[in-house]
Amino acid sequence: MKINALVAHDANAPLASAPITLRSVQHQDVKIEVLYCGVCHSDLHMARNEWAVSRYPLVPGHEIVGKVVEVGAGVTRFSTGQIVGVGVMVDSCRECNFCQAQEEQYCEQGFTATYNGIDRYTGQSTWGGYAQNVIVDQDFVVSVPDNLPLAGVAPLLCAGVTVWSPLRHFTVKAGDRVGVVGLGGLGHMAVKLASAMGAEVTLFTTSPQKGTDAYRLGAKQVVVSTDSEQMAACHASQDIIIDCVAAAHDLDPYLAALKTNGRLVLVGIPDTSHPSPQITPMVFRRLSISGSSIGSIKETQEMLDFCGQHSITSDIELLQGEEIENAFQRMLKGDVKYRFVIDMHATHW
Ligand code: NAP
Ligand code: ZN
Ligand code: ZN
Repeated sequence: MKINALVAHDANAPLASAPITLRSVQHQDVKIEVLYCGVCHSDLHMARNEWAVSRYPLVPGHEIVGKVVEVGAGVTRFSTGQIVGVGVMVDSCRECNFCQAQEEQYCEQGFTATYNGIDRYTGQSTWGGYAQNVIVDQDFVVSVPDNLPLAGVAPLLCAGVTVWSPLRHFTVKAGDRVGVVGLGGLGHMAVKLASAMGAEVTLFTTSPQKGTDAYRLGAKQVVVSTDSEQMAACHASQDIIIDCVAAAHDLDPYLAALKTNGRLVLVGIPDTSHPSPQITPMVFRRLSISGSSIGSIKETQEMLDFCGQHSITSDIELLQGEEIENAFQRMLKGDVKYRFVIDMHATHW
């Protein structure tokens, strides 16, 4: 079936409305009318081919909230009219150790990405959520709690679960000191989620003007990372730091801010590598550096349920699809409060 979408035709052209063809609804498929789609910094990296893996034409968008409008005959978990979410994955091999352990994000064959992936049924490109509809296997669709404003739920599907997963995997608990680097889409969700878990959150930011918002979002301390005195004052103070920055930067000041046995978790994926950190402090204070990739479908559902219980959504700015290039420009300047979300019904195709 043909629908309208916001399409990147190459790395330099602005996104523009164009028709695309979705696969027909398969036995296990859920057809979703997209209501809202968050704008992740990964969408910008991909639209501009900053990771050198983009294939065009490309339709970004992996923070999708929508309404079920059709289900395949084998669909048991969803019915028409239901509000659901889709994140960064739409399929995986389902057989490897990680898929069997419900950690599809680490599938040994690689998960099928919601966009710019290869559809396991058709062999064609997958299309993302900057579109009127998506069609997704029910195993990669999650339920949305009914007490949350839907536009603010959309960013939970990537930004939310990407910070939730390491907080849970590395067993953050009440009273732990959690540092968050960068108050953007991921960072502001890390502040909200970690503080709702009872952690004492410190925001490290390059933007002093974001301090007031950080306290409102739940941070107990704000450190301007470009101020070396402020950084020195928090030496050996954090149990874990989640680094959400979208650009390469010096990791040493954050390693210095960790307690002995502390862990720096990198979730930002800059287009060039960070400079290598100094090894000596890592050795003498038994520090760890980890990466972390999104989160599983199980974790996504757990995170959404937690957000329902704690009334947590993303702080958003709504836009029409035709405003996407302006949103990308502002995102590049760190000028987002704190996630752009496209309102599909307000978009002129
Ligand atoms: P975002 O909303 O643009 O936020 C990034 C924040 O990083 C900025 O608001 C800014 O915060 C800080 N920053 C500091 N220096 C920067 C610089 N030179 N350029 C850009 N940002 C700078 O981005 P996002 O959507 O949260 O995504 C963050 C990164 O995570 C991206 O690289 C994205 O691709 C990646 N990502 C990874 C996963 C995963 O699975 N690991 C999932 C989703 C996204 P301050 O103003 O507070 O300093
Ligand atoms: Zn994302
Ligand atoms: Zn697998």
